Amino acid sequence: MNDRPHILVVGAGIVGAAIAWHLARDGARVTLVEAGEPGGVATRRSLAWINAGWGAPEPYVRLRVHAMAEWRRLAGEVPSIRVAWTGGLLWDQPPDRLRAWAARHAAWGCAARLVDRAEAARLEPALASPPQLAVHAPGEGAVEPLATALALLADARRMGVGIVTGRPALALGRQAGRVVGIETATGALAADLVVLAAGAGTAALAAGAGLTLPVADPPALLLATRPCAPLLNGLVLAPALHLRQDGCGRLVASAGFDGRSDLETAGRRLLDDLRRLLRGGAPEPEQVVLGRRPIPLDGLPIVGPAPGIAGLYVAVLHSGVTLAPAIGRLVAEEIRTGRRDPLLAPCEPSRIA
Ligand SMILES: Cc1cc2nc3c(=O)[nH]c(=O)nc-3n(C[C@H](O)[C@H](O)[C@H](O)COP(=O)(O)OP(=O)(O)OC[C@H]3O[C@@H](n4cnc5c(N)ncnc54)[C@H](O)[C@@H]3O)c2cc1C
Repeated sequence: MNDRPHILVVGAGIVGAAIAWHLARDGARVTLVEAGEPGGVATRRSLAWINAGWGAPEPYVRLRVHAMAEWRRLAGEVPSIRVAWTGGLLWDQPPDRLRAWAARHAAWGCAARLVDRAEAARLEPALASPPQLAVHAPGEGAVEPLATALALLADARRMGVGIVTGRPALALGRQAGRVVGIETATGALAADLVVLAAGAGTAALAAGAGLTLPVADPPALLLATRPCAPLLNGLVLAPALHLRQDGCGRLVASAGFDGRSDLETAGRRLLDDLRRLLRGGAPEPEQVVLGRRPIPLDGLPIVGPAPGIAGLYVAVLHSGVTLAPAIGRLVAEEIRTGRRDPLLAPCEPSRIA
């Protein structure tokens, strides 16, 4: 007989994994249910750049900056997590926006400064044509997203989280207006609280309980080359593509996908852009895939108790890699204590639900 409330987390991407891990660390009784394989859908195809973001409202930037610090804390608690704190060189915005961005972020306490062409060349000697003006953000970094989600899941399992894979939640179970679990093809699973962290699948499940979540999942390209000798010192955020070199030496590039050409053509164009960006070109691609980014329509996370629906909590967000350790800790804390940290103010579900 166990009198601790049973919490069911739906979705084993980086967001669900981080929430389940923090709940378990705080002593909760947790089951995580995943439709497919552990490690997520968006997560495994993410560039996984950890960053403060630009052009966002101050409360949201503060949450992101807080999340960057939370990655250091989490990597200390789960030693198999490695964050590469390489910094980033960014010039994917016009010069006036770069200047405003650097000034605003510096005023908010994020390390970010403008650099000229000579300094950009010194920071990233592999660039074929360094930008005239860029922002260097030394506090940014990246993780290997799939390995990190799997590390969290393995540690969550060690702490007693039950992880059920290959079993989609088909609907929320409801009784007297309250969510009491989920329905699956092989039966119902009961819970005192259901946390929807199902990425692009969150809105459909929430809709079944009468909660409309305006979330899109636009496609994006991710290209990984064969491994090569170290070329980059940090992340490179250029107008045509965002780029990092992973722990195995692969160049990993992401770019938007407008759907006007097929995947093969778009992948070739991305490879051409990558080869133009680097002085010595780039190795052959190992894979080019389409990922989808679950993103609330106003760009801000939706994280919190579902308005007017007892027993349901939702967590759907973009930049889920950047935000995972902060969201994981803050959600676990809100569920445990009933108190909502002011850092979550920009994530309030009632603003759009
Ligand atoms: C190309 C690309 C580049 C990106 N770059 C960055 C970046 O640089 N920095 C950054 O911070 N973010 C980036 N993102 C976004 C980031 O990857 C996502 O915000 C994050 O991975 C979302 O994690 P998640 O756990 O919410 O979703 P997912 O990883 O999609 O996980 C959701 C899980 O829920 C499961 N699920 C869905 N429906 C159900 C159901 N009915 N029942 C059970 N399980 C269900 C899915 O199978 C999946 O495993 C990028 C995304 C892409 C695609």
